Amino acid sequence: MTEYHVSPMPFDVPDDLTIPQFILSTDASSTRPTRPSHVPWLVEDASGRGIHFDELKARTSALANALHVKWAIGENDVVCVFSPNDVDYPVAVWAVHTLGAVVTPANPGYTVKELVFQLKATSASLLICHSACLKTAQEAAKEAGLSASRVIVVNRDGGPLSGVHTLEDLVVFGKSQSTSYKERRFVPGEAKKKLAFLSFSSGTTGTPKAVAISHYALIANVLQMAVHNRVADPHWKDKRMVPGDVAMAVLPFFHIYGLVVNLHYSLFCGMSVVVIPKFNFLDFLKSISRHKITHLFVVPPQIVLLCKHPAVRSYDFSHVKYCMSGAAPLSGELMKTVSKVLPNACVGQGYGLTETCTTVTMVPPHQRFATIGSAGQLLPGITARVVKADGTMAKQGEPGELVLTGPSMAMCYYNNDAATKETFINGWVRTGDEVIIKNNEVYVVDRIKEIMKVRGYQVAPAELEGHLLLHEDVLDVCVVGIPDEYSGELPLAFVVPQPKVASKLKCPQETLKLKKRLAKHVADAKVPYKWLAGGVEFIDAIPKNPSGKVLRRILRDQAKTMKREV
Ligand code: AMP
Repeated sequence: MTEYHVSPMPFDVPDDLTIPQFILSTDASSTRPTRPSHVPWLVEDASGRGIHFDELKARTSALANALHVKWAIGENDVVCVFSPNDVDYPVAVWAVHTLGAVVTPANPGYTVKELVFQLKATSASLLICHSACLKTAQEAAKEAGLSASRVIVVNRDGGPLSGVHTLEDLVVFGKSQSTSYKERRFVPGEAKKKLAFLSFSSGTTGTPKAVAISHYALIANVLQMAVHNRVADPHWKDKRMVPGDVAMAVLPFFHIYGLVVNLHYSLFCGMSVVVIPKFNFLDFLKSISRHKITHLFVVPPQIVLLCKHPAVRSYDFSHVKYCMSGAAPLSGELMKTVSKVLPNACVGQGYGLTETCTTVTMVPPHQRFATIGSAGQLLPGITARVVKADGTMAKQGEPGELVLTGPSMAMCYYNNDAATKETFINGWVRTGDEVIIKNNEVYVVDRIKEIMKVRGYQVAPAELEGHLLLHEDVLDVCVVGIPDEYSGELPLAFVVPQPKVASKLKCPQETLKLKKRLAKHVADAKVPYKWLAGGVEFIDAIPKNPSGKVLRRILRDQAKTMKREV
């Protein structure tokens, strides 16, 4: 059997630690870079305020105490964190984990309906939100049956908030009380089965599902990256990241890439993480310069801007040592161009999925320039197979579906046995990506699964199709991605209109009106990256095979040849 494997992990991944115990450990073991005490853990972008170990640890314990005293949060309770990046984001996550409870991170751009879906699917019993999305949080909590007193606000707007618990008040309260909770500790092996996160992904088919991620999976992935990049042992040479380096955290922490790589991995390496709540390109450039960022973790649209935006020419980014693009494909051309903008940086891709608790490949160690077109080299501990459509194994250089195993794999889809059986098979995860492997480097050639990637975010056709079918003028629909230079893809809906409206569509004005109504129908219910920015096309019938399965690829190929509507 053809399997690909770079190396095993050189040491055992701890299986008796919670994520906060692992990250906030001061244990000077041989597998942990030592951060000098003057190096802050987090830096607030706008103010430049540094947050150090003692403050992080004290706030985490105080919040855990308050959550326990006020709401008796404990074993397996689910807490939703609905917030842009914030220096208190990890505090909220680790406080919940300290109590044995579970975090479900939600996109702060979600509409009320989208948040309600997540709250209900995970049976969340508490909602920690940011003041920027308080109104949505309050409405969603009400609709999901959570009392208003179960919404906690990270108040960054400064103004007083009446009638709500703020995280700051809870930290003060938690510090003022004697410790009432018992820190969750694991017996050996328990971290492998203990749920830490319920992160959403659509997998290979269907609507978004909660991916069950254990404490061990995240810890393992952090250590796999640390071994690959030679940072897990202070004595190893040629490290890609060293304590005191400065990582920019503009990737959202609610997405697995931001959460695991940008936040937890960067902190493990002893880097300072500059926390940026919202991406704005000109501010992004200023922040890279102001904080002398050494490590950039980005998605392809940010690389596009770095390559093309004229404002970049006013900056000298010679301090950037490493730039990783992930979450969606990056062309070889862009990779070459951005290397000129970041003249001293190792630039390359990482590849991973929510279902693999993130990173499976990174730029090979010791390689200054990534291999063009490669998504990176398999990390230690990962074993890969490439499976052809007929179920046989592809040989080196032959395309097929990438199937993976390793210590960071998620456990299952939460409460969804049918979907679990399709994707999680005897410890292996089906990625739904078509790849070629050469010299243990992975080249992503196509996506077999239905999802679109819009600016690195997943958009599930099934979710948009289900919503469009609720519209009275829609008889049938299929949503596919149309290629776009900046966003990667944009959702385009092929719609079969109801007979009563079909006859009117001979008139161009009526056609335009209906297209606008359908676009609005989506925009009213969904976060902006899911909007039908690729347009709406009317067709007579959705192509299907004799058993009724949508022949999505025919429409995908058709979409590739179409011009984007504006
Ligand atoms: P998510 O679970 O949101 O991280 O999405 C995972 C999917 O993103 C993968 O299955 C791929 O389809 C895509 N993806 C992630 N990284 C890359 C990459 N470097 N190149 C191509 N596709 C990628």
